[in-house]
Amino acid sequence: MFSSDDTIVAIATPPGRGGIGVIRISGPEAFGIASALVNRAAPFEPRRAVLAHFAGSDRQDSLADEVVVTCFAAPHSYTGQDVAEVSAHGSPVVLRAIVRRAMDLGARLAEPGEFTLRAFLNGKRDLIQAEAVADLVSAVTPLQARTAFDQLEGTLTRRIAEIDGTLFDLIARLEASLDFPDEGYHFIAQDAIGGEIGIVIDSIDRLLAESRRGRMIREGITVAIVGKPNVGKSSLFNRLVGTDRAIVTEIPGTTRDLITETIDLAGIPVTVVDTAGARATLDVIEREGVARGERAARVASVVVVVVDQSAPLTIEDETLLARTASARRIVVANKSDRPDAIAASVPMSANTAPCAPAVACMSVDTRVSALTGSGLEELRRAIVELVGGEETREPAALSNARHIALLEATREHLVRARTTAAERHPEEFVLVELQEARVTLEQIVGTRTNDAMLRHIFERFCIGK
Ligand code: GDP
Repeated sequence: MFSSDDTIVAIATPPGRGGIGVIRISGPEAFGIASALVNRAAPFEPRRAVLAHFAGSDRQDSLADEVVVTCFAAPHSYTGQDVAEVSAHGSPVVLRAIVRRAMDLGARLAEPGEFTLRAFLNGKRDLIQAEAVADLVSAVTPLQARTAFDQLEGTLTRRIAEIDGTLFDLIARLEASLDFPDEGYHFIAQDAIGGEIGIVIDSIDRLLAESRRGRMIREGITVAIVGKPNVGKSSLFNRLVGTDRAIVTEIPGTTRDLITETIDLAGIPVTVVDTAGARATLDVIEREGVARGERAARVASVVVVVVDQSAPLTIEDETLLARTASARRIVVANKSDRPDAIAASVPMSANTAPCAPAVACMSVDTRVSALTGSGLEELRRAIVELVGGEETREPAALSNARHIALLEATREHLVRARTTAAERHPEEFVLVELQEARVTLEQIVGTRTNDAMLRHIFERFCIGK
């Protein structure tokens, strides 16, 4: 289904207007189509930018533009095929006209991610690197971008290759001892098999140890600010997003009536949600509560429960505190610039007395003043700490859920192989598990793939990528 014999075309720059817009053409007819677009008889010299004149066909209102055409000859191109890049003025009208003309000349409109898919199919990039392209493009924090770029550079590929190499060697020796049993020579002693498998498991564990942080860097977390009206949620929200440079991003699925901003906390993209208003608040808590179980395992999420410390707690506060008791939460006493009116009425963390039934059992985690900004730094740290983040700002080797799941599956096969060896089952059974482990490992890099998997990966790319 993934044919790369035809020539594809798409606008490679983002939708909208800009100084320049780039059209990418890839495939066997790329150079011919590029020549026809600008009526050029002489062949293009690869990697040399040429100023040319685009003129649309008559039935396209004779739209014209001055363009720069750069050709890259196979295999020295992004896709590994002949590629022509046409830089025009960044007007959607002009860019669309060029794409239409290229299609008239025989190109097909590219599917999402099809250029990168071709790069993968032509061996220019492995699957990890292809996925890293999408991650790099969609990164919103510098740490996300560095994590993606490291993967694009092949750091994860190399670590997987090392694990695969050890595994391959082990399998080869095990197969050899099975193939030549009569020679009395064992390429690997039966007692040593478990230990050798353990070494592979250890390398996998070292990688997996980074996966939680990696996922957090790649996917980000959501922090919902909840509380009854007037406790200072919006003020706190503004403080949180105001001082950290807010990242402007399109977040699919965010409800219109919730105000969200994404900020960079210790490299993690944190989407802060101001639930302002009791109705929305309760909805969010309900959703938090329900989704908490599954979400906690995948991506950590935090509820910041705000109370006003300058006034006694009310039944609304207590309801909220009770409902969020089992959530991953931080209880924030706001308005710390004013006298404390709740300390006397509520058991605090320092107070070991059991909660009176009528009073929500609460411990204030941090005191802030959204007015003066005091305590904000502690709150930021508390959020990062609660989700297990660190202030390292170092990229994580492993961040993609697909890679993590496959690596975990590889590990399971290896653990089974080790158990089988320890129980002194025939070596063939150990071998089966080891081979299965290799299969899952190869799916990470893409040495082994199937259409459904590729389709799933590339459909999240944009057209033109
Ligand atoms: P929300 O309804 O929970 O979003 O609360 P707002 O952020 O709109 O704040 C309600 C009122 O409390 C406003 O008059 C704020 O100026 C005031 N306020 C918010 N935070 C503080 C604070 O830390 N100290 C003091 N003294 N007033 C605050």
